Amino acid sequence: MKRIIATLLIAFIGVILVRTIMFSPPEITTEDQVIIDVNADIVAQHLSEAVQFKTISPPAPETRNRLVFDNFLNWAEKTYPELHSLEKTLIKGQTILLKWPGQDPTLKPILLAAHYDVVPVVPGTEERWTHPPFGGVIEDGFVWGRGALDDKSGVIVMMEAATLLLRQGFIPERTVYFSFDHDEEIGGIEGALGVTKRFKEQGIQLAWSIDEGSFILNDIYPGMTLPVASINVAEKGYLTLDLIASGDSGHSSMPSKDASIFLLAEAIRRLRETPLPGGLEGISLEAMDAIARYSSFGRRMFFANRWLFQSMIESELSKSGPTNAMLRTTTAPTLLSAGIKDNVLPGTATATVNFRLHPRDTPDGVIKAVKKIVGDDRIEIRRREGGSLASKVSSTEGIGFDVIAKVSRQMFGPLVVIPGITGGGTNSSHYEAVADDSYRINLLSLGPDDVAGFHGTNERISVKNLGAGTAAYAQLIKIGAGE
Ligand SMILES: [Zn+2]
Repeated sequence: MKRIIATLLIAFIGVILVRTIMFSPPEITTEDQVIIDVNADIVAQHLSEAVQFKTISPPAPETRNRLVFDNFLNWAEKTYPELHSLEKTLIKGQTILLKWPGQDPTLKPILLAAHYDVVPVVPGTEERWTHPPFGGVIEDGFVWGRGALDDKSGVIVMMEAATLLLRQGFIPERTVYFSFDHDEEIGGIEGALGVTKRFKEQGIQLAWSIDEGSFILNDIYPGMTLPVASINVAEKGYLTLDLIASGDSGHSSMPSKDASIFLLAEAIRRLRETPLPGGLEGISLEAMDAIARYSSFGRRMFFANRWLFQSMIESELSKSGPTNAMLRTTTAPTLLSAGIKDNVLPGTATATVNFRLHPRDTPDGVIKAVKKIVGDDRIEIRRREGGSLASKVSSTEGIGFDVIAKVSRQMFGPLVVIPGITGGGTNSSHYEAVADDSYRINLLSLGPDDVAGFHGTNERISVKNLGAGTAAYAQLIKIGAGE
């Protein structure tokens, strides 16, 4: 008997080990490297000038300084005259829509989009910037300032790339549209939605669109020495709920255990302890599986034997913010309010909780799940207006995905291509209505040091990166519009 158990145990361990050893990276698809000559210093100079326009989208759109946006548009027209000789439409006066007609009108067009509005600098953080946020300083090989990554660099490298090709006399086979949007940071209601409406009116359906959402990632994943092109094929939705606890009020000298703040605190504790249902499947599984093949032996062992370790993998991934967000709809308490005086128990207490909806979830489903987790009738759950469903999931086998993957390899060398989900909202949520597929990636490199710059302090991008990005978009237009 003992011998049988020992044999079985050895066989069991053997299976796990063999599967782990076989769980290795696939042979990397490579492409012949393409070199396109770009003067990165000129691109950097142009980005520096662009950063100096304070094209800030404030939380209240009506307070937006339209004049600054007009000044930016005038600058762009003067700086990129060839580009502006294309068929141009201003949407709501401030989003530039350009059409570069293709030779074959039977082919569906493509759209390259980026936004030139930026988020404000958080008051009180100005001092923490190495260089002034709107100074556009070029120093130590970087262009510094708000928008350097999100997303004026996207605008500039696209404008540079198109100019480069126009000067060379390139004529696309497939029509190429560019949209340079002015209000992405506040939902794209005028710009991207306006472009989408216009396309619908004209009966234009795009083969694919590309906009921000990810990057060519370097040193972001532990153990991964190759760059990763995360071509995001979906984005999460947005839902905000108010949890309103009604409890015993009265004097604080004789507090009840059912005071509203106690009830609310318990509800929040439960939401923290019980994440919404989720799991490693679909796009997230495909991405994590590809990355895990390059990681440590232990991690490879887990992923190679998901039949045994799936729940352990999921609980491990759930511990970190970024990977947890890949698995499920996330739960984030963001606002609290209750009480008027330090010696009075308030009758009600409110917590506002923001959820980022995974494509598998609906708002109604989340509300139902939250009610169950909270499990207390004294807490009313009220949905805030607005929000959005998760996007549709674009194809990882579509022509656009293939073009972006191919160009990434041609321009950035050997790399791993994975699909991904963008956590925040982007203009692709509008463009997907008029595109067979919508992809979310900037063909610019991003490393761990850059991440804090998004909507944060010391946003910057390297001059070298801008040169490589311009070349990448030129190649993307060539290949994407080539046939
Ligand atoms: Zn952005």
